[in-house]
Amino acid sequence: MSIFCVIDEKHIPLYRVMWIASLPHFCGEEDCQCEGRYEIRLEQGESVWGTGDERDAALAALERWQGGLGSNEEDGEWEADT
Ligand SMILES: [Zn+2]
Repeated sequence: MSIFCVIDEKHIPLYRVMWIASLPHFCGEEDCQCEGRYEIRLEQGESVWGTGDERDAALAALERWQGGLGSNEEDGEWEADT
């Protein structure tokens, strides 16, 4: 299987994902490019912004990649365990 998920037309290695937002982004700024998108936080303070479908696909890919261990369907607690 692939260890990549596709977010915003970028192939993101799953091991770089720190966390995934459960709610769509809203900040109220008029020129915001991310409104209604889901933040996928990467290492080193980077973020990519996916659609709901991309977010779901990324979560599913992470669960498969982790072998289904500790999957938490609703909230998906993907805190970095150091
Ligand atoms: Zn914003």
